[in-house]
Amino acid sequence: MRMEIEIIKEKRKTLLLRVTKEGNVLVKAPLRYSDSGIQTFLASKKGWIEKQIKRQQMLRDFASGFHFDSLIYQNSIPIMETKTLRLDFEKLSEKTRLKTIKKEYLSFFQILKDRTLILAQKFGFSVEKISPCSSSVKWGSYSSTGELKLNYKLIILPSYLVDYVITHELCHIRHMNHKPQFWREVEKYFPAYKRARKDMNLYSFVLKTKF
Ligand SMILES: [Zn+2]
Repeated sequence: MRMEIEIIKEKRKTLLLRVTKEGNVLVKAPLRYSDSGIQTFLASKKGWIEKQIKRQQMLRDFASGFHFDSLIYQNSIPIMETKTLRLDFEKLSEKTRLKTIKKEYLSFFQILKDRTLILAQKFGFSVEKISPCSSSVKWGSYSSTGELKLNYKLIILPSYLVDYVITHELCHIRHMNHKPQFWREVEKYFPAYKRARKDMNLYSFVLKTKF
């Protein structure tokens, strides 16, 4: 496997090994480390590095095949082509495009709200208020004031992941932390939560896209 390796020696105590989003290998080593020592270290991590490179490649492929502006998904089935396609979308500036997409996404928020109410009732939670939020780091949140916020970008995720995020936030009604008791509660309503958490990584680029 061909790979770019960048080695930085700096004032630090431990070795740091990372595979970047671009699939490059980054090693940060303490000044005292010899080059051969670093090579031995890299050789010992070969399997892990290759796995990470493949994973980053998969994430990039997934993101590049994705169109924010063409389809809105519900239950993993495209339910509509957005209006944005009917506009001269390509000619709009990036900023206007994202604004238009945001409006489009927000117009579907009721679907997320309805689903939250269905799951809350099914699991026996009561929710005071459900509102949309825009965040580039969070899919949802629950505050002690009783407000459950859901990122409106959720609407394009496959339905099982939407359910996972909603269930996760609902469980915060009973546990305002991520301690083991919290995860046991999540597992009760969403047994495959570990798999869902992993799959959420595929969509982190959606979260990071600012709109
Ligand atoms: Zn949480």
